[in-house]
Order: sequence, then structure tokens, then C-alpha cells
Amino acid sequence: MASKVTEEYGILVFNDAVMQERLPRPTYKELAKVIKEGRRLDLDIANEVAHAMKEWALEKGATHYAHWFQPLNGITSEKHDSFLAPRGDGTALMAFSGKELVQGEPDASSFPNGGLRATFEARGYTAWDPTSPAFIKDEVLCIPTAFISYTGEALDKKTPFLRSTVVLNEQAKRVLALFGKHPREVSCTVGPEQEYFLIKEEDFAQRPDLVMCGRTLFGCPPVKGQELEEHYFGAIRPTVNEFMKELDDELWRLGVPATTKHNEVAPCQHELAPIFERASMAIDHNLLTMEMMKLVASRHGLACLQHEKPFDYVNGSGKHDNWSIAADGKNLLDPSDTPEENLQFLVFLTCVIAAVDRHQDLMRCSVASAGNDHRLGANEAPPAIISIFLGDDLAGVVDALINGGSYTSHGHEVFDVGVPQLADVVLDTTDRNRTSPFAFTGNKFEFRMCGSQQNLSDANMVLNTAVAEMLDEFATAMDGLEDGEFAAHALEWVRDTLTRHQRIIFNGNGYSAEWPEEAARRGLLNLRTTADALPALLDPENIEFFARYGVLDAAEAGARYVAKAEQYAKLLNIEANTMVYMVRHFYLPALYSYSGDLAQTVATKDAIGIKSPAERGLLAELTEGITTVTGLADGLEAKNAEAAAVDDPGLQDDAYRDVVIPAMESLRGAVDAMEQVVGHDYWPFPSYNTMLFYV
Ligand code: ADP
Ligand code: MG
Repeated sequence: MASKVTEEYGILVFNDAVMQERLPRPTYKELAKVIKEGRRLDLDIANEVAHAMKEWALEKGATHYAHWFQPLNGITSEKHDSFLAPRGDGTALMAFSGKELVQGEPDASSFPNGGLRATFEARGYTAWDPTSPAFIKDEVLCIPTAFISYTGEALDKKTPFLRSTVVLNEQAKRVLALFGKHPREVSCTVGPEQEYFLIKEEDFAQRPDLVMCGRTLFGCPPVKGQELEEHYFGAIRPTVNEFMKELDDELWRLGVPATTKHNEVAPCQHELAPIFERASMAIDHNLLTMEMMKLVASRHGLACLQHEKPFDYVNGSGKHDNWSIAADGKNLLDPSDTPEENLQFLVFLTCVIAAVDRHQDLMRCSVASAGNDHRLGANEAPPAIISIFLGDDLAGVVDALINGGSYTSHGHEVFDVGVPQLADVVLDTTDRNRTSPFAFTGNKFEFRMCGSQQNLSDANMVLNTAVAEMLDEFATAMDGLEDGEFAAHALEWVRDTLTRHQRIIFNGNGYSAEWPEEAARRGLLNLRTTADALPALLDPENIEFFARYGVLDAAEAGARYVAKAEQYAKLLNIEANTMVYMVRHFYLPALYSYSGDLAQTVATKDAIGIKSPAERGLLAELTEGITTVTGLADGLEAKNAEAAAVDDPGLQDDAYRDVVIPAMESLRGAVDAMEQVVGHDYWPFPSYNTMLFYV
């Protein structure tokens, strides 16, 4: 088995080893430079790469190629074109040119674009991102690409993310140069932990809410939930195990380093974590993982639910974005023992802390979605307030830095101004705080607010740019110093900056009732819903910030606002429509049948002189329920129609948040109350009791 894994790992990827083997040496070297140093690819090289790639893909059975890209809805898109080139004499060749490799032209008009282009000029093109290797999926050679308009505007999630890595690279190198280091490349690394649910496909197929919206819009509480705490890390049941094994095999062939798998907190919830990689690859691999999960699940008669909140009453799903920065592969957030490197660690740590504090609004905005609103602030996921957990020891060091003096950890004096032995401190810090949205976990940060179905590009784009800005400020502040002055000035900068941003550090319980009050006193933002969070993209200071680093221009930022705001309203519109549909076509008819049969029973009993007070009582309850449900469904339909007709995206989102969501909740409450009293055989859909415990 194990030897099979090493043989098959990455077998479907046109990776570095394949390129070394198949490309002429000079071509390989040129391409490696393009990849490592972000250079432009010239067409001669592209032609050679395309040829080698095609030959390799044909040997692996591929017949088509596709530019694989990530439009603003965050999911992946692909259009398959065959390699077929008819020769004109009735025979055909398989051909693939450099131009086809580096550039594609999907019709861009049907992707969300936030108003960046009118449909009549809807030409966009996809451009190969050589930092993420091509791979074969289902006989198609997939080429990871960025998606851009002909006027150069980013129409996708990947492009701004890649731009943010360029800025981070530049600014981090300036800072490292001050420490006498000159790495070839500084990049961010990401390891996303992906949570998901597995239920029976036949249950899934019966529920229009799961099929249309990815989550249950109705369902009374199951008789048991997750309170026995028996599922987390519990033994993995055979069906799920078969699924996980096959998923690993598929992912390993695609070069996705999937490594950890376990049961999560909620019944039928699970998690997969890969080994971290360079971020652009990690994000692509996460998207591929999500796609493979759904595909492999269906081969096992299962449905994989990736929505942030498929079921009420049990935990929802997140995607923890483990993030760090590496210089030529060396982790810059790894504390060390040598005084000089400790100072360097402190500078990078301080930059991250300050960046997150300064850009709380954009961080929150980067994870905002209708689905994720069900998690954040719901005492099962981090609160909607951004704060940073450092652990008691590192927080103690920060405190000592700010207030002067030394810090004692585990009986050792580990901090004496200027010469902290940070490795000891951090190594000893084993405490975990699951309530923190942004936690330092020894040698990386873990951004825990990301939703399970989200594309991690936005979150990492904001984080990279925000950190780059602080690195820029540090490097600029250190400009023109005399030899020998640097260490003292750097430490002073660290102290000043930490003092200004200390409020973001919070090691306490993020679920406590006092935290929102304390956070408000500290001036931290509490943007509870997507409708509250998205306007950050319209803030002139934020627009200027993105533009200053060339990550998003004003039009691109505005387009992202419009696309996200529209998506929020559209999703809620679909949910409201689905609820009304389910009520009119399934729930009410079920209630008519059950109450009709019950009325018959009561009448029959009456006719033969048997009193039936319990049945009569239930009948009255059902009749009242029918009236309530009918009224609330009509009300939801009207309110949804009104919200859907609002033109301004901001006002529309407000209407969904303030009017439609409460109407959805009321309707659900009324239907769920009926589910509690209606006979099993009458109820039209699988219940929580059925769905959550059988896989
Ligand atoms: P947890 O305690 O949160 O489960 P793990 O040690 O299992 O933490 O790591 C979770 C994820 O973090 C894994 O995907 C791992 O590869 C990733 N990770 C580890 N180091 C780094 C790093 N330097 N940069 C980014 N991700 C990392
Ligand atoms: Mg984790």
C-alpha cells in the first residue's frame, strides 16, 4: 500500500520533476525563473512547455485541456477544448500551442463581475498562473489560470491574491535586507483545514433545501445532538472510511498533500487537513479537494455538504486558514534562540498584529457570506469580532516589551529587554483557544473565521497586503540609520507599534457575554452580518490602501463589493423562494392529509359515540398551524419580492438582513413546530433524526 502511494503521488500533475525530465534544460531553467521570480513567460518558451505538457497529457489519456479559473463567485470554472486539429485530409493531429497554454478566451459575460464590464464588451481572457502546476482531472488537462478583462481588470479571486503575494515578497525582502538577509523569494504558506458533512445521497436528493441551497431550511431539533461529545475524533465508520481512503488516493494522485482526517464535533461532520504549501497552490488544492469530495462521495452513495451551516442545533463547518511567511522556505514566524533572529521574529509578529488590528474591517469582510453568518458569533465558531490570541506566554512577552522589564515563564527569566529567548517561550505554549478568530499556534497564525465553502483567496489577499503595508512602514522607518543603530531602533518601533495595537490581543473566552462589551470599550469592530461587513470595500481609506499596493484598483474593489452584495441577496432570495416552495408543495399538503385523516377519525368516533378529546385537541392545533404557516409563507413571499426589487445593493442587503431573514426564521419556527406533532409517515422529508445518524 505504502509503496503504491509514493509511486502514485502526483502522477497526474505536470510538476517540477516532470518538467525537469521533459523540458530541454534551458527551457526548464527559464520556466523555473518565471515561477520563482514572477517573471513574464515568452512565447517561444511557452510553445516548448505546451508541447511537452501535451505529450505528457496524451500519455496519461487526456483528450482535452481547460483553463481552470476562479470567477468572483469563488468556485472553479472550466471550459473543455480538445487537442484535436483536423489535417484537412480526413485525419487529425493532437495539437496544443504556447498561445493556447498561456491564454484562453472564455466568454466572460455570464460570470459575476460586479459591473466591471457591460455584457456587450464582455471579453475576458484567462492567463496561466505558472506558480500552480497543471494537472489532469477526468481526462482533461487543467491549467490553473487568472481571469482578466481586456482592459486588465481582475475578474477573479486569484489575480488580486497573486498581486498580494508580489507585494508581500517585495516588502518582506526590504525588511530582511535590514537583517542582512537576501532571500530569493518570500512567500506565504497556507494549510487549510476543511470541514464537511456526509449524509446519504438519497436523503439529500429528497430535500429541495439541500439540493438548491446546500443547507436545511426546515427541521425540528433531533432527539439528540452533539451533547454526548462522542463524534469528535471518534472511530470512523466503514462507509466514511471507504470514502476517505478513496478521497486520499484521488488527491494524492493530483499531488494534493492530504494528511489528516478525523470526525468533527457534529454528528456526520468530518475534517481533512493537508500539509501546508505555498499559498497559491494550497488555495488551488483546497478548491480541488472540495470538488473531489463531492465527486467521491457520490460514488459511495453519499452527499458531501460543504455549506457553513447545513443543520441547525449542531455545529457548522469552517475552514481554518493556517498562514505563515517563508523566506526561501524558512518560516519567518518560527521563533528562534538567537537574539538577532528573535528581533526579526518580533518585527514580523508585530507587523501581523498591527496589520490585523488596522484592517479588522477588511479581514471580517473577506470571510463574509450569507452561509458564514450562521457560524460567526454563534458560540461554536469564533465571534464576529476580530481579535488575536497569542497564548499567555507570548502575550506576557509583549506585555513586558510594552511596559518594560522582564518576563518569567515556567520559572525561567526568558525576557530581558533586547535579548528575548523566544523559542523557549513559544515551545512551552501548548494552550489552545478555540474561541479566537486569529490565533498564534507556535509558528504560524490560524485565521479561523473562514467559512467551509469559501475560496481562501480573499482572506489571504487581505492578510498579505495588510502585513506588507506594516513591513513597508517598518522598513521605511528604519531608512537612513547609521550602522549599529538598527537593533535599538527596531526594538523601539516594535514597542511603539505593539503599544498602539495592543487592544487587538485577547487571550480570554471569545464566547463570553462580557467580550463584546469589552471589545466595544477597546474600540474593536463587531460587524455581525455580511450586510454590515461588506461596505468596508467602499471605504475610501480601504480603496486607497489596495490601490497603493496595486492589489485592487478602485473599480476592482467596487466590483468586488457589488458582486458580494449581490451574491448575499441572491442566495437569500433563493432560500426564501425555496422555503415558500417547500411549504406550498409539501408541508401544507402533508398537514392537510394528516389533519384530514385525523378529522375523519374524530368524525367516525363521534358517530359511534366515542369521545376523542386528545385527537380533537391535536386537530385544533394542526388547523391553527395550517393558518399560521400559510400566513407566514404568504408574508415571506411578499417581503422577499419587495427586497428583491430594491436596486441599490447596500439597501437590498439591509432589507434581506432586517426583513427577509426574520420572516424566514418565523416561517421555519411554525413549520418545525408542526413537524413535532405530525405522524412520521405524513412528513414529506427526511428529518434531522434520519439524516444525521445513519452514515
Ligand atoms: P491544529 O492543532 O490546528 O490541528 P496542525 O499542527 O494539525 O494544527 O496544523 C494544521 C494545519 O496547519 C496543517 O494543514 C499544517 O500543515 C498547517 N501548517 C503548519 N505549519 C504551517 C506554516 N508554517 N504555514 C502554513 N500552514 C502551516
Ligand atoms: Mg486547527
